Amino acid sequence: MSAVIEVRNLHKRYGDTVAVDDVSLSIEPGEIFGILGPNGAGKTTTVECVAGIRVPDRGEIEVLGHDPLRDRAEVTRALGVQLQTGQLPDQLRVAEALELYSSFYPDPADWRELMESLGLTPKAKARYSKLSGGQKQRLSIALALVGNPRIAILDELTTGLDPQARRDTWELIEGVRARGVTIVLVTHFMEEAERLCDRIALIDAGRVVTVDTPAGLTERAGIDQRLRFRPSRPFDDALLTVLSDVKRVEHRGGFVVVDGTANVVAAVTAVLARNDITAELLRVEQASLEDAYVSLLRKQ
Ligand code: ADP
Repeated sequence: MSAVIEVRNLHKRYGDTVAVDDVSLSIEPGEIFGILGPNGAGKTTTVECVAGIRVPDRGEIEVLGHDPLRDRAEVTRALGVQLQTGQLPDQLRVAEALELYSSFYPDPADWRELMESLGLTPKAKARYSKLSGGQKQRLSIALALVGNPRIAILDELTTGLDPQARRDTWELIEGVRARGVTIVLVTHFMEEAERLCDRIALIDAGRVVTVDTPAGLTERAGIDQRLRFRPSRPFDDALLTVLSDVKRVEHRGGFVVVDGTANVVAAVTAVLARNDITAELLRVEQASLEDAYVSLLRKQ
């Protein structure tokens, strides 16, 4: 399977600021590829270079085998890019914008259907300047998808949307992916990355920290399992800390919290049973992508 987007040793600075230091990525057809990282990490600059909106200082980029700057027409046809809000003329109405954009492409999506699925039909005649932040955001998603692109680049997809609109948008994006569209998702929302992405590139200070599946990232962070219970009687922590599967034992308001490997639950419950201790209100928690993110960035 050959990559649809290939980025090799990308470097971009603005004056004294190195925005992208050395980024290499290979994005496969049909995947939802997340670019995750703190503010200022270089995520937007990276995708803007891929879209041909910025000129890299060094490095190579191929989009379906084309150079975004040299082969601008081919790349523009294949790519749908979500504009940051505020980049449309104030007087343009929602339906006009969608119809206009769809006319730029040889095989556009049904813009009325897109307008409907993004909940914008009641606003069809509203001018851009009169839309709320969330409506502008939804319009920018619709415009990114209206050309029926093979690749969609979505930057801060759901920023400014309320929880219901965010969930609706996730469903829409999953539907778009089901049609075989490759999606590059720039985000700083863990929940969004965990829910949608097949693979995630964790970017910090202009460099790729790691690329993995959401589950792989959690595993890599080495905090795979957390166990919480109320012991039926007090016990010495050493009972648990000697176990090789246990990494940490903490006490929180009458509860014992144990972090460890994937095997920690079995190891801890066996020791407790041997010592006639019952683990009341036992709960097992999977480490979240957020824990992994913090831990992997800290390791940097
Ligand atoms: P992210 O999307 O991860 O928040 P950006 O790519 O937007 O990161 O920015 C990376 C760095 O480059 C930041 O320090 C930012 O302030 C700087 N930067 C981004 N765009 C410009 C610009 N047009 N001019 C000057 N500096 C910029």
